Amino acid sequence: MDRYLATLDHEEVVIRRGARSGLYTIVAIHSTVRGPSLGGVRMWTYADTRLALRDALRLSEGMTYKAAVAGLSQGGGKGVIVVPPGERLEGDRRRAALLDFGETVDSAAGRYVTAEDVGVTPDDLLVVAEITPHVSALPREHGGSGDPSPWTALGVLVSIEVACERVFGTADLTGRTVAVMGLGHVGGDLARRLAAAGARLTVTDIDEGRRAPAEALGATWVAPSDILAADVEVLAPCALGGVLDDAAVPALRARVVAGAANNQLADAGIADLLAAHGILWVPDFVVNAGGIVNIAVELVLGGYDEARAEADVRAIGETVRTILDEADRDAVTPLAAAMAIARRRLG
Ligand code: NAD
Repeated sequence: MDRYLATLDHEEVVIRRGARSGLYTIVAIHSTVRGPSLGGVRMWTYADTRLALRDALRLSEGMTYKAAVAGLSQGGGKGVIVVPPGERLEGDRRRAALLDFGETVDSAAGRYVTAEDVGVTPDDLLVVAEITPHVSALPREHGGSGDPSPWTALGVLVSIEVACERVFGTADLTGRTVAVMGLGHVGGDLARRLAAAGARLTVTDIDEGRRAPAEALGATWVAPSDILAADVEVLAPCALGGVLDDAAVPALRARVVAGAANNQLADAGIADLLAAHGILWVPDFVVNAGGIVNIAVELVLGGYDEARAEADVRAIGETVRTILDEADRDAVTPLAAAMAIARRRLG
């Protein structure tokens, strides 16, 4: 039994069986110390229900630190709609599950605000919003802050610039060699931004359909198995978590690693291994906060303001600078420095 279930550390966990769908939906609220908890809802199949609950507990805790380090007046929460093995939720049944989830969100009376995550579309969020007002990142035409992915990509870009300034002496990306792993919503947008900044790209995705648009940017395409050890200065993991482990790190050639993927380290000890190899790894939950920074604009102002969002997302660069300064000062890893900031802000 791992720590998430053995020792609860959360303010509130709601698990309800929905009257319409018969499916379980979960809302986990890790912390509201800095404000209402914010985090997306994941529609996912798990081998057993403990894993679904564990995911909600783990992800909501991560959101607390992400929001705290970004300086937001938000806490950490997460929603899960538990899909039975072998089933794909479609049509009326999908709608029923989303309405049921809306009731679970509403039962927290604003202590949890939901948004999009894996398996959930903007249209799905509109269904949830039929039941509860505590829904963020609705499409712009519905008054929300819209797709967070381009903002996440902007935050990754500015983080890479600051990390390059530290390691190579300049934030200018002209001619800098950068590998992007995963060209989805965030990675694809990041690749366009990097190309526009003059970087030389090496990219991959398990979806071959991403190849032509990437090559149109001038990027070199490699097989997914070759991306981590690509001969580049910067690596941006933008696919799945867990890619940096005991085997991958010694093979890395990049001196800077900063990307959007959540939970890039197989375990926290990998942060020390990266440092021992002279690699500057900027913690994922700092780098990829652009999406929630954008959502926070909508929540704090009670309406959306794109110029404010851009300024706030660009400020992630300052946060990275502070973390790297404190890491140097205290002779610790950037991960330890970021966690120290989160703990300070959470009192
Ligand atoms: P996405 O699903 O749109 O894109 C992921 C891409 O990675 C897909 O194109 C997929 O084919 C590819 N991929 C999967 N496994 C791969 C592999 N082994 N090698 C190469 N490519 C692989 O997801 P996204 O919204 O772009 O998010 C990317 C990552 O960033 C995720 O880990 C997500 O949790 C994290 N993240 C996203 C946001 C956001 O705003 N979308 C915010 C914070 C964190």
